[in-house]
Amino acid sequence: TRKEEEEAIRRSDALERDDIGALRKVSRREYLKKREQKKLEELRDDIEDEQYLFEGVKLTEAEQRELSYKKQIYELVKKRSEDTDDLGEYRMPDAYDLEGGVNQEKRFSVASERYRDPDAAEKMNPFAEQEAWEEHQIGKATLKFGSKNRKPTSEDYQFVFEDQIEFIKAAVMDGVNVDQESPAESIEKSMAKSAFEKLQEDRKTLPIYPYRDDLLQAVNDHQVLVIVGETGSGKTTQIPQYLHEAGYTKRGKIGCTQPRRVAAMSVSARVSQEMGVKLGHEVGYSIRFEDCTSEKTLLKYMTDGMLLREFLGEPDLASYSVIMVDEAHERTLSTDILFGLVKDIARFRPDLKLLISSATLDAEKFSDYFDCAPIFKIPGRRFPVEIHYTKAPEADYLDAAVVTALQIHVTQPPGDGDILIFLTGQEEIETAEEIIKHRIKGLGTKIAELIICPIYANLPTELQAKIFEPTPEGARKVVLATNIAETSLTIDGIKYVIDPGFSKMKSYNPRTGMESLLVTPISKASANQRAGRSGRTGPGKCFRLYTAYNYMNDLEDNTVPEIQRTNLANVVLSLKSLGIHDLLNFDFMDPPPAEALLKALELLFALSALNKLGELTKVGRRMAEFPLDPMLSKMIVASDKYKCSDEIISIAAMLSVGNSIFYRPKDKQVHADNARMNFHMGNVGDHIALLKVYNSWKETNFSTQWCYENYIQVRSMKRARDIRDQLEGLLERVEIELTSNINDLEGIKKSITSGFFPHSAKLQKNGSYRTVKHAQTVHIHPSSGLAQVLPRWVVYHELVLTTKEYMRQATELKPEWLVEIAPHYYQLKD
Ligand code: ADP
Ligand code: MG
Repeated sequence: TRKEEEEAIRRSDALERDDIGALRKVSRREYLKKREQKKLEELRDDIEDEQYLFEGVKLTEAEQRELSYKKQIYELVKKRSEDTDDLGEYRMPDAYDLEGGVNQEKRFSVASERYRDPDAAEKMNPFAEQEAWEEHQIGKATLKFGSKNRKPTSEDYQFVFEDQIEFIKAAVMDGVNVDQESPAESIEKSMAKSAFEKLQEDRKTLPIYPYRDDLLQAVNDHQVLVIVGETGSGKTTQIPQYLHEAGYTKRGKIGCTQPRRVAAMSVSARVSQEMGVKLGHEVGYSIRFEDCTSEKTLLKYMTDGMLLREFLGEPDLASYSVIMVDEAHERTLSTDILFGLVKDIARFRPDLKLLISSATLDAEKFSDYFDCAPIFKIPGRRFPVEIHYTKAPEADYLDAAVVTALQIHVTQPPGDGDILIFLTGQEEIETAEEIIKHRIKGLGTKIAELIICPIYANLPTELQAKIFEPTPEGARKVVLATNIAETSLTIDGIKYVIDPGFSKMKSYNPRTGMESLLVTPISKASANQRAGRSGRTGPGKCFRLYTAYNYMNDLEDNTVPEIQRTNLANVVLSLKSLGIHDLLNFDFMDPPPAEALLKALELLFALSALNKLGELTKVGRRMAEFPLDPMLSKMIVASDKYKCSDEIISIAAMLSVGNSIFYRPKDKQVHADNARMNFHMGNVGDHIALLKVYNSWKETNFSTQWCYENYIQVRSMKRARDIRDQLEGLLERVEIELTSNINDLEGIKKSITSGFFPHSAKLQKNGSYRTVKHAQTVHIHPSSGLAQVLPRWVVYHELVLTTKEYMRQATELKPEWLVEIAPHYYQLKD
């Protein structure tokens, strides 16, 4: 049938593009299989090449071993793919991945010792993993059935184990310098203390504490310092406090940047507790649309994006005595730009101290960039971590993660440690939470309590603290986290990490200017960071929901810095408004692709933010005031002309909240959909529908009850209101009058088009759309109010790639508007 045909085309398309995000829902298996075949061919070529090259040459022992591994793998994979259609059987020869890189050698030290061992070749029979796995299974069975305090029968767990996942223990990640506390210390610690005293003592147990004075000395001696230390060593929470105690705040604030807003909030909350002050007073945080600081604030935690914005108002950062660019290894777009800016001001502000801190060991690169700044290494402390891989790739990693977590929970005594699962986003976390709750219910009271703690960027503040609360006795915590728990937040007490191997990553096609968020395989560096999270308070275990072969062959070594895979329009606008014109020669650590820079300039020119000479225009200067993407800012600036700024900032605020306005409880989907369609009456389009939601809520005096009745998330609405308030304040700053014109829907749509005209698409005969500028095939998102209407022309907010390339938030437009609004961009044909 036609549908099947389409599906087949889409799949082969996605396979061609190596696009695991698109395939993941249907068939990760298929994808992996194809990849594996490719690897197999490569491997064969490799072996042939080498055999040919080395003919008659005496190989070193290591080279011989390398070649024989390759042959072993090749034979295994080949056998497997001949034998069966399924990926089920393949196993890595033990400890193949020894030479994966500098870190690797240290990390997989057990493996590498074997490698150096002269008898290693014998020990490395291809069945070693199988044996280890069998041993592990036996061990598990003993644990499961041999436990005295609970006497479970196999029936009890049938529900959990119907789809049990099999793991292979592959390597042990070495512990680093673990010292146990002495009995005297532990007695002293357990004596009753006030909470504040206890906090002060905790501070002294952090790995960074013994180096406090050395660190202060180093900061004193050098203007720029690169600081490296394991996650959890105390960099983020302690260093700003040390500097404060040493008097640096007498000359100005200490600013500490974080790539993620949740981290900025949570860490500042912790530090304010440790200092015994109220959050927002001496210690505060600043994130987009939320400023929790005051005149008194001395230690300011903020997102890197916020510090970037502060440059606009204070180009020399005169109010700061220290800037700490934290989590530098994350290499977010804003962090990379900050590097260039702070490096520059450090030259003419010798009194400014600059700290670049990172959790990983690529510190030399930072040091090189900052003119050979010295590197301060905080000796880490981490217990060994056992790494387990699945025997076969898991088709549905979400389910696999849940099953694994429950497997751990019911087989291991609850007191022995908590579980951390890495997922890709809010939606997935909520689904996982639902499945776990459901399955736990099925298990009744037979098992220990399992406390579910989600953590992701949009989680309401009240709930964020929950992950740090100590687990009550007899219970276990399972933390469901996005990448935020990889290095930004340290959660104590985690013993088990479950790593499906994916994260959501922005990807950008500079040719078309399309940006999308894709679920993408993580890098080896990320995988190892994640594993490390389980060894903080005791020996840990990491369960990777992919095979050792996948790890070795499919994962990149490092994550590509964001600057090389993102739309730069925003950054270019900020830099231009900072007076930095020569972008091609800006001191980037890793320069973005020139094509992406040009694309950004082109877009800003199209939006009239830059003139033909590339200089900022008046429109551009106004746009730069808004902490929004240039197209959104342009939409607001344009609303001045159509006298509907009031409506447009509501729409902008609702769009900024993201995709979490409406919710659809599983048992009431029809009700929820009906409620949602009410706002779409008259096929007004998704933007106007969002406006109607906001205005209706406002009419009920921001009623929570109204939100419940209409299946709308009240906390998203509150956030939209906050954002709207700020946008209103900014309107005043750029001298745009707040005017309402609710009856002129055309004016509102024209304002939207003024910002989003590059995102226009035309209906095709088969019901799909084609983007006007790049002739890309796209579709209206099923959740759109226009999904059944299919207007001839639409303008859309963004594209999301799930099973298809979807336009999210679409509104009908008239083609003549394009020519009227953007004559330099669109011309009428004949
Ligand atoms: P690093 O920046 O080196 O990774 P941190 O300074 O973030 O380390 O963490 C040091 C310690 O502070 C960790 O033990 C961590 O658990 C604790 N901590 C950090 N933030 C919080 C918080 N919000 N609540 C409770 N403990 C926290
Ligand atoms: Mg930190």
